[in-house]
Parts: sequence; C-alpha cells; structure tokens
Amino acid sequence: MPSFSSSGVSPQKQQHNARRRQLIRQQRKSLPIASVEKRLVEEVRKNDTLIVVGETGSGKTTQLPQFLYDAGFCQDGKVIGITQPRRVAAVTVAKRVAEECNDQLGKKVGYSIRFDDSTSNATRIKYMTDGLLLREALLDPLLSKYSVIVVDEAHERTVHTDVLLGLLKKVQHSRSVYANKNGKLLPGTQDRSQYFTLKSTQGIKTDPLKLIIMSASLDAKCFSDYFGGAKVVHIEGRQYPVDILYTYQPESDYLDATLVTIFQIHLEEGPGDILAFLTGQEEIESLERLIQERVRQLPPQSSKIWTTPIYSSLPSEQQMNAFKPVPSGTRKVVLATNIAETSVTIPGIKYVIDPGMVKARAYNPVTGMESLIIIPVSKAQALQRSGRAGREGPGKCYRLFQESEFDKLVDSTVPEIKRCNLANVVLQLKALGIDDIIGFDFMEKPSRTAILKSLEQLILLGALTDDYKLSDPIGRQMARLPLDPMYSKALIVSNEFKCLEEMLIVVSMLSVESIFFSPREKLEEARAARKNFESSEGDHTTLVNVYRAAAECVEKSKNANAKEKTMEKALNRWCRENFINYRSLRHARDVHSQIQGHVQQMGLTLSSCGDDMVPFRRCLTSAFFLNAAMRQPDGSYRALATGQSVHIHPSSGLFRTKPDCVVFNELVRTSQNYVKNLTRIDPLWLAELAPQYYATED
Ligand code: ADP
Ligand code: MG
Repeated sequence: MPSFSSSGVSPQKQQHNARRRQLIRQQRKSLPIASVEKRLVEEVRKNDTLIVVGETGSGKTTQLPQFLYDAGFCQDGKVIGITQPRRVAAVTVAKRVAEECNDQLGKKVGYSIRFDDSTSNATRIKYMTDGLLLREALLDPLLSKYSVIVVDEAHERTVHTDVLLGLLKKVQHSRSVYANKNGKLLPGTQDRSQYFTLKSTQGIKTDPLKLIIMSASLDAKCFSDYFGGAKVVHIEGRQYPVDILYTYQPESDYLDATLVTIFQIHLEEGPGDILAFLTGQEEIESLERLIQERVRQLPPQSSKIWTTPIYSSLPSEQQMNAFKPVPSGTRKVVLATNIAETSVTIPGIKYVIDPGMVKARAYNPVTGMESLIIIPVSKAQALQRSGRAGREGPGKCYRLFQESEFDKLVDSTVPEIKRCNLANVVLQLKALGIDDIIGFDFMEKPSRTAILKSLEQLILLGALTDDYKLSDPIGRQMARLPLDPMYSKALIVSNEFKCLEEMLIVVSMLSVESIFFSPREKLEEARAARKNFESSEGDHTTLVNVYRAAAECVEKSKNANAKEKTMEKALNRWCRENFINYRSLRHARDVHSQIQGHVQQMGLTLSSCGDDMVPFRRCLTSAFFLNAAMRQPDGSYRALATGQSVHIHPSSGLFRTKPDCVVFNELVRTSQNYVKNLTRIDPLWLAELAPQYYATED
C-alpha cells in the first residue's frame, strides 16, 4: 500500500513537487531580468510612467509583476494589472506565474479574458486582455483598484492597445489631479510610501496610477515621446546565433512547403523542437493532420513526432500542451499563429519555420468595409520569429521565401488602428464619456475619414443619436456587450423579433473560428455531413441547426446521468461523426453561456421563433443591412453599401442557389472578394427595416 503523509500527498508526489519548485526557482534566477530586479523596482517608484524594453524571453511578462508585488505595490488590496493583446497569452502566462508563486490559479494570480474569468477577490496579479481592461473602465473610469497597470506587448500596436494607451494617459492624469486636489501630493513623487489614499470627488478612493509600457521592439522612442519623454529601461537579452536559410525558388504552397521542411528537419537535423508559424486555426489543423499522415509513412525505427497547436481561440487547457516537455527521442512540433512571435515563449525550440505570412485586418475607410487578408509579415516580425530559435542555444530558421523577398518586406507592421473598422472603438470611447473622438489623443491618429465613417455607421445602427451622443438604451446596451456593434445590435433587436434564442446561438457560433471541419482528404464526406444541417434559408440557420443538434447530444447523455467527462466524450464523438470542429464548438458553447448572462442582465427575455425563420431573417436584415448584397446578371453580387463586386464563398450553403438578395457577416479577400455566412432576404425588407439607410422611391 502506498504511504501517505498527513496532507494526503504521497511522498513521491511531494518529492516531485519539491524538485519542480527547485527547477522553477533556478529558471527564474537565470532569466536576464532577474539581475535588474532592484533597479526596476526603483525606477517604478521614481517614475509614474516607465517604458521597459527587452527581448522576448527575458522575463518581462512573468517576472516584473512578481517583483512589484514583492516590493509592496499591492498594499491595501490594490491590484497589479497586466494587459496582453491575446487571450492565449493572458491565460498561459497567468498559469505559469501562479505555478511560480506555488499558488492555485485564481488566488493571488489570475486571468480575466472575454468569456472566461479566473480571478477572485484575493487576486493581486491579474493578467487580462487589453480589450477587457477597456471594458472595466466603463464600470470604473478611474480604474481605482489598480496601483500599477502594465501594458504588455505594446510593440504589437493592436487597436485595443492603442486605445488603451490613450485612455490610461487620461486616467493617470485624472488620478493625479484628484490626488492633488487634497493638496498634498504631486505627480512624480519620489517614494511610494508618501502616497496616500484619498476620496475623489466621485467618492472613489484613488492614488496615482503607475504605468509601465513593455515592448519587445528596440524602438521605444514613440512610446516615450507619447508619454512626455518617459524613462526607458532596456533589459539586456541573451540570444544565441541563428542560421537563417532561404529558399532558392518562390514557394507557391507554403503549407506544403512547411510540411516538407518539418520532415526534412526531423530526418536530417539533431535534437531540438520545431516551431512553425501559420496564419490561423484552419491552417494549423490541416497541417496537424498532414503531419500525422506523413508520420505513418516514416520507417518504424525513426524517432517520434508530437504536434501541438497554439492559437488564440484554443481552449485554455489545451493551450498549455505546447509548454509540456516531451520524452527524449520525441520531437515536439509546435504549430502556432503569430502568438508565439513575442507573446509566449515556448521552451526547447531550436528550429523555426517561417512561411512569412500573417492574417491581418484590412479596412477601406471609404467603403467602411473591413476584411481579413493574408499578407507578408514585416521585417520586424520575421526577425522576432527567427529569434525564437536562439533562446536556449544556437538555432536555425527556415524562411520559406527567397532572400530577395526579405528586402522587400516593410520594416514594421502598420498599427492596427489604421487598418480596421473603428465602430467598436468609437462606441467604447463614447460610452466612457469621451465625446470628441477626432480630438482624442491617440498615439497615432486614425484617418478622419475612418472616424467619420464609423460615426456614421453607429448612427445608422441607432447606437448614436444624430448629434453623435450615445443613445439610450440602444447605444448603452450595445456598448455593454463584448461584441462587434453589428452583433450587439442583432441581439438587442432579436428581442423584438422574438428570436433571441436563435440570435444568441448565431452570435456565439460566429464568435469562434471554423465550426465545420473539412479535411482536404475527406472533402466529399465532410460536404455530405454538412448537408444534414444545411438550411435553404442560409448559413445562419445552418449554424443554429448544428448548435441545437450538438446540444441535443449533450442533453441525451445528461439524461443518461453521464458524468461530465463521458458527456464531453459523447460530444467529441458526435462532432467527429458529423465533421464538426469539436474545439470550436466547445468554445462556442462557452461563449453562449457568457453572452446569455449578459443579455439576461440587460433584462432581455429568451424567446424562440420556432420553425418560422422569417422573423429571424428579418432580424438579421435589421442588424446587418449595411452588409446587404444583390445578385447581378452575371451571377456575382454587388454589396449595396459600398458598390463592391463580391462573390459567395464556396463554403456557403447558398453558393449554388444564389438567391437574389443576401446579408452577410464577413468579407474575405483572396484572389477576389468573397462573402461568408449569408442569409437570403427579401430586398423589400431593407427599405422597411432600415429606412434610415434604404430610402424608398416615391
Ligand atoms: P518576456 O515577457 O520577456 O518575453 P516571459 O516572462 O514571457 O518573457 O518568459 C520568461 C521565461 O519563462 C521564458 O524563458 C520561458 O521559457 C519561461 N516560461 C514562460 N511561460 C512558461 C510556461 N507556461 N511554461 C514553461 N516556461 C515558461
Ligand atoms: Mg512577454
């Protein structure tokens, strides 16, 4: 019989834990940032705003918040908030730091991201997405529970980071003004011990806010300038040499080239794990399968390959797999999006494969249309990617393009705020009481046309009044929902059309990537499986059908009193049989329960339109009228709001039937403009349901 200690943990386990703790202590001590702990804490004490620059893997994200905690920055129950542009990073880093603190996740260390919150009242080091902190500001404009806010990965310049920087600058100013009003505190006070709490005019206790901007890019001047010449601290990195290899010829199929390169490395190179950069979940999953197939063809004596994906919408427990060590003799192949560029550091990587592509948002401010496109990376991104190979020793980076192509890449990526639809940002700022959007102190101003276009869209959606004020209740409700304004609008109006249940499903399913699973080698089977759910009304109804069928499968096992695990297994099996992406579906179910909470809080009642899909299609029309398209004589479509010529994406159930008039959710640009997720509508509904936009001819 195994012997147990009084804590109920076996001595073996205790020994294992002690060894792991020892290892983590050593790892932490050996990080470049460890040697400058004292200096960093001093600088934070001295400066209200500090820019910290350091190479990826130097320990910024995991260590700095712990240093500040140990230095007493969480006294009086204050919280250190660290924002990340990506969900995955917030989750994996929080888990790692909780482990480093030898504490359960959700106690001292926690994370909070849209649709998933692990924090408690005890949480003092809180990792979150930048978008989430923006939402918190809606409820607490002075962000008064935070003593320090660390904006991490600022070099990424996501639209949320840029808006957040502008907002934090304002909050920091307001908090020092409040502190000053009581006449005792000057901003930039030398020692934190001199800070004291006081009541602001709104009755909120505030003290000055410490801001730390962290970046992996060496160019910190733009951040420093924006914050009035803020101090910059550089952390010396440690980087081993990385051999860069280019292809002799251009590669027409980078997915195939990645596959070939993985096996070339596996068969010809020494030990070390591989990290390949792809553009999204679909590519990652299809490469995962191709690798598994190819592995079967390897000679039996060759060493093993273990693939693990990491991308933003991957359920959090699966994200951690990428960090697990593999047994010796097995090679780990991490298939990642640009999340692994700087946001997370995966140990053990020696080989990097960089096809040189990235999925990015693009925006046409004249038409107001946003689209997703796959574009070449910037030089800065390519350098970051190759750097991942030289973290623990000399490495190699295989760039799947020619050397001459590298010279043609742009130096750094254009900030997202200059290439996305700003409706969401504008709505958030309005809800925060910032009325003058054009005058807002953005680090880099979006074009006037883009701002005006989004104001116009928000007026058309009813979120703003004609004099650009947030409307009540619609605008206020829309700002509260963590969704794109058109999706929020769809939910709010679905209450009137008595189809909130259906719309809740649609919005959740549209919030995740690729619900349908169509492996290249089984395209016909996948297509046949999809037919079972397909509706002639359109893809939105199809999504509702899939969700309901899945829910029925879960209900069945619930009725059979199955345990959680058995239920998940049954759902997994059902997904496989029906060519549904299990990971995406699970994510959609989580999103669903979260949004349901929101709409119930807003006082909306769940109602279903039953089998009559007309109200549902009318409801879609009244929310997505800006995305309506009419069929042209040649079978293509014309987007009514923009005049663009678009085509129905082959993945749509309406690809063959080609109805006269549709509304769509997404525009994808490849060789031509494709629209995805469509529903057929009656063109007369446009004038009836969106008269503010489609005037009827008298
Ligand atoms: P930076 O923010 O400067 O890029 P991090 O603080 O993210 O650096 O990472 C510091 C070190 O911690 C890295 O070398 C990495 O290997 C290690 N690390 C981070 N997260 C994990 C994890 N989940 N599992 C194991 N090691 C990790
Ligand atoms: Mg980091």
